[in-house]
Amino acid sequence: MYITKREIVYLKVIEKERDGIRLSTLAKKLNIRPASAFEELNHLEGKGLIERKQSLILITENGKRELYKAIKAHRVVEELLTEIGIQEDKVCELSTKFDTDIPEEVIEKMYEYLGRPKKCPHGEDIP
Ligand SMILES: [Zn+2]
Repeated sequence: MYITKREIVYLKVIEKERDGIRLSTLAKKLNIRPASAFEELNHLEGKGLIERKQSLILITENGKRELYKAIKAHRVVEELLTEIGIQEDKVCELSTKFDTDIPEEVIEKMYEYLGRPKKCPHGEDIP
C-alpha cells in the first residue's frame, strides 16, 4: 500500500492517543480546519488505516503496520545517508524527499546491509 506524507503525519498523531482522539483535537494538533481533517480522515478510513468509534478516531492494526513501515523507511534511509558521508543534520530532510517511494523489499535490503541498526542517526528507535 502506498501511503502519503500527509497520511503519515495524521497517523503519527492518531497513534499517540491510545484511547482515540476527537476530530476537533486532531485538527487543532495539526493546525488545520476540522473540515480539512474530516476529508483526509475519510481517505484514511477508506484505506483501512483508521476507524471511528462514536466520536473517537483510532488507528487500526493495519494503520500501525503502515505507519511503522514508513517510520522504518525514513530512519533506515537516514542511516544509509549518514553511512555514505552525508552530514547528520541534513539526512532527515533528504530522507523525506524519497523514503516513501522506496519499495519495502529495498528498505529491508538496506536495513540488512547496515547490520540491522536499532537507532537512526538521531537516536530514534528503528521499528
Ligand atoms: Zn532520525
